[in-house]
Amino acid sequence: MTFDASGLTHFDTPELQANYERARRRYPAQAIVDLATLRDNMRHLVEIVNADESQPHTEVMGVVKADAYGHGLVPTALAALAGGATWLGTAQSHEALVLREAGIGLDRARILTWVNDPYEVPYDELLRQHIDISVGTIDAIHELAKAAETVQRSAHGEEPIVAHVHVKVETGFGRNGFTLDQLDAVAPLLKELQDKGLFEITGQWSHLAVADMPDTPEFVDETEQQIQRFEEFTEHMKAAGIEPKMRHLANTAATLSRPNIHFDLVRPGVGLYGYEPDPAMGTPEQYGLKPAMTLQAQLSSVKTVPAGTGLSYGRVYVTEKETSAVIVPVGYADGIHRSASGFNEAGARKEQHLGGPVVFMTKQGPLVRHVSGRICMDQFIIDLHGSAEELGIHVGDTVQLFGPGRGQEFCEPTADDWAQAADTISYEIYTCLRNRVPRLYRNAASVLSEQDLAMLDPTSLI
Ligand SMILES: *Cc1c(COP(=O)(O)O)cnc(C)c1O
Repeated sequence: MTFDASGLTHFDTPELQANYERARRRYPAQAIVDLATLRDNMRHLVEIVNADESQPHTEVMGVVKADAYGHGLVPTALAALAGGATWLGTAQSHEALVLREAGIGLDRARILTWVNDPYEVPYDELLRQHIDISVGTIDAIHELAKAAETVQRSAHGEEPIVAHVHVKVETGFGRNGFTLDQLDAVAPLLKELQDKGLFEITGQWSHLAVADMPDTPEFVDETEQQIQRFEEFTEHMKAAGIEPKMRHLANTAATLSRPNIHFDLVRPGVGLYGYEPDPAMGTPEQYGLKPAMTLQAQLSSVKTVPAGTGLSYGRVYVTEKETSAVIVPVGYADGIHRSASGFNEAGARKEQHLGGPVVFMTKQGPLVRHVSGRICMDQFIIDLHGSAEELGIHVGDTVQLFGPGRGQEFCEPTADDWAQAADTISYEIYTCLRNRVPRLYRNAASVLSEQDLAMLDPTSLI
């Protein structure tokens, strides 16, 4: 009998339990994603958007770039659709194609893709798969127009495919998109391509730089300026005879906090996964969101070491008393940030840095301890500050690195806690989690239709 901090005791069918056991034999760590939580987070975001009666037709895009922030592209996309999203968005065009190839047709979702090298991106495939395309450079306009012509020429009497174009405008992020001068220069060309039936200018869009810091007045001002510039672009487009139906600007932060800029479409990413964009905004719970991913691992070693033992490379953590040291068999090669290593004053750096948190189940209940010493490639060590024997901690116990945060009582860390230890943001914690850690899905049968279920790897369901 091993202690289990995962709380996973119930499986709906023996097959699901067998999948779980197989995954544990394959790898000593698992990332468990609750599809019901993803669906509920999306539902909540849709409700927030619908509550704003001044903009009754706002749609919601589930941003599923980067393998759905590490949660798994197709399962997450399907859960987002189950929660009421009508759009999906990916940065890389490859991921947009994967969604269509998996079976998510135009009848289920519009898909927008935005990062691309216009000379290499397979515009023809994107057009045939009815994927909306962002353009933010003159090169992209020319290349996309060429592809649209080719695709239309080979249509052979079928309904001609028109490129659904979202014009990206630079409102103050300093990244993608046309400046106002550039837009004025290309607007006649866009209009011409639209008149020719090659383009439909579907969208005007931009991205906010500092929407996640509502308490910093100069950032609030900067967001106001971005909004103003966004409106200016609309005026300029209008003057050139272009009136995009879908204007969109809001990420999660603005979806949660700025209903006045929901416009026709909002693009939440991190909120779908259950996190607020920045802990400065508060906790996920305050926003009605719940983290969907749990990362757990099985202990590979438990032993007693004397006082003065250096743990891991560089002796940056040295035990102060006799204690139990345990090994968690995941490391930076799994995407566990090395910057979440733990130092103590007895160690070579003579300074304290609290490492990433891990929760253990003990005879006395859940207990949080922190990474002690440097995180290695495939493992890290934790000083239990006590006796494993007395705590009831053994090799093979399941420990949890982060999860949905089941309250103070369970003292369960979230990716925000790991982000704090690693001096980064929660986004980087889950997107960096490597795919050698199996992704397992809870509640698939209750969230997805039979048809959608068939799109998933059946062995990934638990
Ligand atoms: C990633 C991304 C989003 C989602 O941002 P969140 O902060 O995760 O909500 C929205 N729009 C664009 C263009 C993005 O790249």
